[in-house]
Amino acid sequence: MLVNLTEMLQDAEKNNYAIASINTPNQISLRAVIAAAEEVNIPITINHAQNEDEHIPIEIAVPLMVDYAKKSTVPISVHVDHGLDMKHIMKAVRLGVTSIMYDCSNLPLEENIAEVKRLKELIDHLGISLEAEVGTMPNNMPDEVHGQERSDLSDLSVYYTNPKDAQIFCEQTGVDVLTISFGSVHGMYEGEPKLDIPLLEKIKEVTPNTALGMHGGSGVPYDQVQKAISSGIRKINYFTAIDTSPAPHLLKMIQEADGPLNFYKIADRAMEIIYEKTVEILRVCKNEAARS
Ligand SMILES: [Zn+2]
Repeated sequence: MLVNLTEMLQDAEKNNYAIASINTPNQISLRAVIAAAEEVNIPITINHAQNEDEHIPIEIAVPLMVDYAKKSTVPISVHVDHGLDMKHIMKAVRLGVTSIMYDCSNLPLEENIAEVKRLKELIDHLGISLEAEVGTMPNNMPDEVHGQERSDLSDLSVYYTNPKDAQIFCEQTGVDVLTISFGSVHGMYEGEPKLDIPLLEKIKEVTPNTALGMHGGSGVPYDQVQKAISSGIRKINYFTAIDTSPAPHLLKMIQEADGPLNFYKIADRAMEIIYEKTVEILRVCKNEAARS
C-alpha cells in the first residue's frame, strides 16, 4: 500500500526498528526490493534520486513506483532521494511521491533551515513527508549529487553533525526525518567503518520529536547498524550494497554459458540476487533481537 513516511516512522519508533530506504532505478530492482519487503514483512521507502534522472527519467520511474507501491502488501513510501532543486521536487509532487528528501546540507545552517521551511509550507497540506540533512555526508562515490570530488576520508569526524545545530534545525523546521552524519559515508568504505554511537545518542536526546536518518548503510557492519537502530536511527539508506550484488554472479553465469544466453535469463538472475541481498538487509533493519 502507498503511504507516507510519517505513518511508518511512528510504528518504527514504537517497535525499535528502521525503515530501509532503497533506490530502485529500474524495474528489476523495483520488483526485487518490493518482493523482499513483502517476504520480511516490513515497511520501506523506494527511492528515485535526482541524479538517477539520467538513467531513468522521473516521469517514467515514479508512476511505475507508485503503481507497484499501491499493489504491495506492505506499507511503501515513494521517496525523492537527494532532491536538490524545487523544479525537480515539484515535478515529483505532481507525479505522486509521498516523501521527499530536500538536501540543502551544503548551505549554511540558517539558509538550510529557510529552504526546508519553504518546502514544508508547500507540501505539508498534501500529506507528503519531509527529510532534510544537517552536517555533511562524506563521499566515496563521486557524482554530481554527492560531489564530483572524493572526500578526504582520513578523519570522518570533521563531517559530523553538531547536536546543537540538529536541535535548532528540528525545532525550526519540524521535519519528519533529520539525516545526520556520525561515521557513515556514501558509497563503499575503505577501512572498517565505525559509527559514533555516543554522538548519535546526544543528537537523539535533543531532537526527541524527530526521526533520525542515516545514509550510506552499505558496508556498515550489521552489529553497528543494529546499535544505531537501538540508539534511535529510524531510516537507513541502502543502495551500493544491493546494486553491486548481482555483478559477480552474472559474470559467472555468462562465463559458464555454453551457448547464446538470453537477456531475460540474465535479468531474472539479477532480480534473484537483488532480492536475496535486500532480504538480508531488511532482516537487519527489522532488529528483531532487540524487539523480543
Ligand atoms: Zn544519501
